[in-house]
Amino acid sequence: MPRLPDPPDIDWDDQGRLWDRRYGDIYFSRDDGLAETRLTFLDGCGLPQAWAGRARFAIGELGFGTGLNVLATMQAWRATRPPGGVLSLHSIEAHLLDRADAARALGAFPELADHAAELLAKWPVRCRAPQTLWFERDRVCLTIHQGDAEAVLASLEARFDAWFLDGFAPARNGAMWTSSVFAHLARLSAPGARAATFSSAAAVRDGLAGAGFAVARLAGYGRKRHRLIAQFPGVAAAPAPPRRVAVIGAGIAGAGVTDALIRRGVAVCVYDRAPRIADAASGNPAGLVSLRLDRGPLGPFFLAAYLAAVVRYRALGGGVFASCGLRQLALPAPALADFRADPPLPPDWFRPDTDGVVLSHAGVLNPPAAIAAMLAGADLRLGAAIDPSAIDADAVVIAAGAGLAGFGASAFAPIALSRGQIDWVAGGRHRQALSDGGYVAPFAGGAVYGATFAPSAPGVEPVVTPQDSAANRNVLVRLAADLADQPVAGARAGVRATLPDRLPLCGLCPDTDKWAGVHPQDWAGAAMARRAGLYLLGGFGARGLTFSPLLGEALAAEMCGEPSPLAQGWRAALDPARFLRRALRRHKPDPV
Ligand code: SAM
Repeated sequence: MPRLPDPPDIDWDDQGRLWDRRYGDIYFSRDDGLAETRLTFLDGCGLPQAWAGRARFAIGELGFGTGLNVLATMQAWRATRPPGGVLSLHSIEAHLLDRADAARALGAFPELADHAAELLAKWPVRCRAPQTLWFERDRVCLTIHQGDAEAVLASLEARFDAWFLDGFAPARNGAMWTSSVFAHLARLSAPGARAATFSSAAAVRDGLAGAGFAVARLAGYGRKRHRLIAQFPGVAAAPAPPRRVAVIGAGIAGAGVTDALIRRGVAVCVYDRAPRIADAASGNPAGLVSLRLDRGPLGPFFLAAYLAAVVRYRALGGGVFASCGLRQLALPAPALADFRADPPLPPDWFRPDTDGVVLSHAGVLNPPAAIAAMLAGADLRLGAAIDPSAIDADAVVIAAGAGLAGFGASAFAPIALSRGQIDWVAGGRHRQALSDGGYVAPFAGGAVYGATFAPSAPGVEPVVTPQDSAANRNVLVRLAADLADQPVAGARAGVRATLPDRLPLCGLCPDTDKWAGVHPQDWAGAAMARRAGLYLLGGFGARGLTFSPLLGEALAAEMCGEPSPLAQGWRAALDPARFLRRALRRHKPDPV
């Protein structure tokens, strides 16, 4: 399977309406697509009544297409949304349309023009990374997953309250309507979830019924004789999201989750023992936001983090982020050949050249300015150490960077500390960032370069050293020899936290006390015991700026009982309890 999903093979009929040649089907009704959407999907799922009084409501869609269903839903939500409610939409699409084609198709619905303009301005990038688009004014978040519906559904772990089943007709597109798809819909349905589709084909009716839905056939829209509605058994029990959250750590990790909670309307109090925000490793005046080019199963996760970071930091405005582009050099030859033949992003984002690849939208962030903007809506309590158990809040997030290791609850995590130093020069007007392990990037009329990486220990203050400045100068000479004459204008050192598998921690804190007191035979279950309401976010290593927006969003979604933007395999890879599970596997007694 190629890394880039195929674009759709579309055409326009003689009345200017969109259809797909690959499947030989239209995107929406030839009569009135918006009226069809409202009847088939909104009415079919009992909306807007079903979201009345709900703090959270989650809709899954198969077949994002032009986004018409999503826009009609957003319009209805704006008019009827419950006070304080958040709407999560997750839509799956195998062949994402170009923004221009979507704009042309949506031009037929002037009534949706405002919503369409907003969606088109945030239109996702065609690639296999899930992308969450936030519509802050309406408290709507839309995550687009690209890939085959069945495969994407299999990767999710969530509860949806409603389903829009809008693939092309079953006779033309069997892959969208398999028994495995229906089984996943059931697995991912909240009690009482509803599903609706334009199709009344027997395969769909039987598939839904076979998966446990009660199915009914109603009169269809326009030329369609029938449509289906379905309901999963049970009574909806809405999640009760936290109202007040405490975040410990006013660095980039704390800022990411605070930002994501605030846009959900959650009150956040941020604690830091330092007297100012961005005081530790996040206090560097500049840092790179770039893509970790990874050919393994987590490749799309790194891609998702990179895209979320670029989108979020751009939206902060105020010159906080400069998309100068990054030329990534020194990739191993097989990796370079592979990425050249099979790129993970379209050409406007990713361009292989002779000895590397250019990430056109990577760039340089001013971390303290970004953190200040992301913490703007929070109540800041700086300058005093805080004990998580002494905090009065519905949930607590420990996001204390190198300080994570100092908390009892997270002491189990095998965190290593590493010192890193960057240096900068004030002249030379460097333009594009370059990286070969070390990096040089445009900064303040000159360039910032580094970074060193050396083991550190708790309590050791990071100070700038001439040895590190010399090591960094070697990087500068190697990557940008024309800047070698520029005098050093400044330097800064910080301490980062890293886990042995070089992946962050993101999720509920395991309850090691419970685990430790349990008989070995019961370890498997006990290892899952968690400290309710206590979350860990950290171990970002040297990639905190890139990880923060996605992991902040993912953790906020988890805390609020919303579907995660992360695939379940990625969540397991980031689960703070993974080290306990691994220890458990190593020590498991032989079966008797
Ligand atoms: N809901 C859309 C809208 O509001 O514009 C219309 C959806 S259109 C009828 C069907 C969509 O399903 C197309 O965009 C098509 O590319 C997508 N699709 C077809 N087969 C798919 C599959 N196996 N997995 C995911 N998406 C698929």
